Amino acid sequence: MKRKVIALIAHDNKKQELVDWACRNREKLAAYELCGTGHTAKLVEEATGLPVQAYLSGPLGGDQQIGAHIAEGKIDMAIFFCDPLTAQPHDPDVKALLRIAVVYDVPIATNQATADCLLK
Ligand code: PGA
Repeated sequence: MKRKVIALIAHDNKKQELVDWACRNREKLAAYELCGTGHTAKLVEEATGLPVQAYLSGPLGGDQQIGAHIAEGKIDMAIFFCDPLTAQPHDPDVKALLRIAVVYDVPIATNQATADCLLK
């Protein structure tokens, strides 16, 4: 059976939080196929040793790539630690990603508490 796919995205101020979360949940994450925006994917792969397919960096279109894959039914869940205190140059892409996850009823965790619930 094909493994379910999780997309990982973290804004710069949230990257360490996501890396720490991924390391804590390494055993569970190993059961999934992982992908993510460029820098996030690289950091999680380095820290956990799990393969993470890297799309473009978020501000350069990675959020949109992940949104497109959600629309195509290729991503089952997203962990998206967004930074609510810093303006993002790609804010329209961030909103589009959140919107498309709602449209396709794909679970998307925007903080640790929700991410923990999704992995349970
Ligand atoms: P990054 O993108 O993982 O390539 O830094 C994340 C984002 O800012 O959306």
